[in-house]
Amino acid sequence: MNAPFFHLLFVLLGACVPVGCAVASPRAVHRGDTSAARLSPSRATEPLASLKNTPAASHTVRELLASGLASRHASEIVQSLTDDVGPRLAGSPGDQAAVAWALARLRAEGLSNVHAEEVIVPHWERGVETGEIVSPTRQKLRLTAIGGSIGTLPAGVEADVIEVQTLEALDTLDAIAVAGKIVFYNTPTERTRDGSGYGRAVAVRALGAKRASAKGAVGVVIRSIGTDQERLPHTGAQRGFEKGETSIPAAALSMPDADLLHRTLAAKKAARLRMTLGCRHLPDAVSANVIGEVPGTTRAEELVVLGAHLDSWDLGTGALDDGAGVGIVIEAARLILATGPRPARTLRVVLFANEENGLAGAKQYAKAHAHELDRHVVALEADSGTDRVTSVTYGGAPSQHAEFVAMAANLSPLGIAADSAEADGGADLSPIRALGVPVVSLSQDSSGYFDIHHTANDTFDKIHPDNLAQAATAFAVAAHVVLTMNENFGRVPEEKRERRH
Ligand SMILES: [Zn+2]
Repeated sequence: MNAPFFHLLFVLLGACVPVGCAVASPRAVHRGDTSAARLSPSRATEPLASLKNTPAASHTVRELLASGLASRHASEIVQSLTDDVGPRLAGSPGDQAAVAWALARLRAEGLSNVHAEEVIVPHWERGVETGEIVSPTRQKLRLTAIGGSIGTLPAGVEADVIEVQTLEALDTLDAIAVAGKIVFYNTPTERTRDGSGYGRAVAVRALGAKRASAKGAVGVVIRSIGTDQERLPHTGAQRGFEKGETSIPAAALSMPDADLLHRTLAAKKAARLRMTLGCRHLPDAVSANVIGEVPGTTRAEELVVLGAHLDSWDLGTGALDDGAGVGIVIEAARLILATGPRPARTLRVVLFANEENGLAGAKQYAKAHAHELDRHVVALEADSGTDRVTSVTYGGAPSQHAEFVAMAANLSPLGIAADSAEADGGADLSPIRALGVPVVSLSQDSSGYFDIHHTANDTFDKIHPDNLAQAATAFAVAAHVVLTMNENFGRVPEEKRERRH
């Protein structure tokens, strides 16, 4: 997610979480039946009715809207990536296959200058993982290693459990109460439309093991960072351990198992847990950012970037995270190629490596393209799943805000409103945003995203073709307007370049 950026930015930059932190003013919590909303087939085409009433829309924008909403190509792209490649954690054979897939796909879609740019990525592998409460009542637990965790000895780690709800609560405990124990962080994730509930909860996954280790704990389990009630744990990355810090095994429990452990501790005042994690770190591996372009005409040296990440966690097939984003940005490029005259500026699609557990691709892009970042007019990232774009936010020079408002008016036929919150851009854009490249965020409805995020349930059947088409169309229209306009968005002011939180 761009939210979904979730992901690991938090870990790498020490900044914030992907989705949540992007929005300065969290909107109303949505507790409705999100699956019903996702499955409503009529919603994606409704906005077309208002198209004729939008005087700002050029002929090409109208064409993009009509052809984009009618197309199901974005979901076909996700199907190909998830069925033909599958899971693609950085450094894995799937990651290599994804790079080859992306090169072939971008060429097949008619993009130019298609190539791979080498990125050195961490290589972490999951192994066997088991967990159980061994007393007072023996109970099997569904858990999964948090990305980057060390493994246990083959016999596992067994210890009494101490429960806390937050990192701050752990900080108040004496080390003697924590030493030798397994710390259980039981932090709920609030369901929100903008993903901010995830942003508020994810710190325990990112930092929980480090904080617990500092007090002498021998392991950590967390309530999965997610909004479902399935018996499927959510993985995700944690912040790496520094030299001199003791790394300890860390795992996420499914929600029903976290509830069981909580009830056991509440009723019996004690519980003993054993877990076995076979995960391990392997030597760094070679991966790549995959890039393709729609070359511009009169101002070809000026670039508009559409980004998504090619890697995924290993439990599912990375359909929502971030197959959907890959489908969105490739389909947006295809729509622009197929519609109207070739734009003045160049559109560049970047499929980043290693967003989930390292952000190495994003950092490498910023380094390799440092010489031309001043020619990056704007960058947009798709990493928030399959649902509709509902709002658009700006992250450029305040002096150019009127240009953004004019651009955003073209999105109103899609039911997308400009929001005054500062755009964060997303995890993969954070290194270039920090160097001044303006960002625009097309924010997707994240109400249902964290039911699936980073679980074995992240599979192609969760993709909603109509809603994904709306999102791809939004990216195409936004990119088209910037590719063809004379103005720009300036640079991100110095004081706003660091991620908040
Ligand atoms: Zn993602």
